[in-house]
Amino acid sequence: MPLKYDLHSHSTISDGTLTPAVLASQAAAAGVDVLALTDHDNVSGIAAAREAAEPLGLRLISGVEISVSWSGHTVHVLGLNLDESATILRQGLQKLCDYRAWRAEEIGRGLERKGIPGAYEGACALATGALVGRLHFARFLVKQGHAKDVKDVFRNYLVAGKPGYVRGEWATLEDAMGWILGAEGLAVIAHPARYKMTRGKLRRLIGEFRELGGRGLEVVSGSHSRDEYFTMARHARDFGLLASAGSDYHGPDNPWISLGNLPDLPPGCDPVWNYF
Ligand code: AMP
Ligand code: MN
Ligand code: MN
Ligand code: MN
Repeated sequence: MPLKYDLHSHSTISDGTLTPAVLASQAAAAGVDVLALTDHDNVSGIAAAREAAEPLGLRLISGVEISVSWSGHTVHVLGLNLDESATILRQGLQKLCDYRAWRAEEIGRGLERKGIPGAYEGACALATGALVGRLHFARFLVKQGHAKDVKDVFRNYLVAGKPGYVRGEWATLEDAMGWILGAEGLAVIAHPARYKMTRGKLRRLIGEFRELGGRGLEVVSGSHSRDEYFTMARHARDFGLLASAGSDYHGPDNPWISLGNLPDLPPGCDPVWNYF
């Protein structure tokens, strides 16, 4: 039987709802053979995930999902199979976590001005890990009855033009690539079909990414449609890039995405896991 891979997942260290150890045991129970933990801008969950994974026969790949500002867009770059203790990576991610801490207060202030007090404190209480993200605010606002689900919160409160929106000042693509390569990791553009870019702009991003040492595209993603698998596989082939697959699992409260339950890569893809 071919091995089951899932190379994109989140724990309570960022905006997932399972601890790193529980995430690893759930992945093993779901029949995953190789799991990458890729928390947003933070690698502090990897040790616990690896420790839980080992006795279960699950191979844990160290990873991170770095927030990048590129040409007016927020783009996510995955660093896979990296040395999570590398100083250059740790120092870079620390800057993003500092920005996140400031941004969370700013989101709270924006919501407060619109008559929603206590959102900062509420989001912090839901964030038990290393950082507070927009998804923590979204969960709090749903709990408080301001919206029917988290999608609704994003649409009405947390995106450009809405009261809880703060313009992202994330890493540059150059810096993020430097941190990943400096930690001997393999860089992959996360969910490339999710960015609201024209085809031409996406290809410009992919070209710059490859020039900077980028190796792969996430072709199969929990947030891609079937058609998008094929379009992204084509881009990967055109640029000589590897293909990755990940659920982008954030926990059981999003039941439409399950761990490791991913279709095969389209034919002609060169899987990223052959290079770990
Ligand atoms: P942040 O990095 O804190 O700005 O938040 C981005 C995260 O919010 C993503 O990783 C998703 O987990 C989540 N997210 C973004 N947009 C949506 C949406 N429309 N519905 C649900 N979750 C979303
Ligand atoms: Mn997330
Ligand atoms: Mn992402
Ligand atoms: Mn993700």
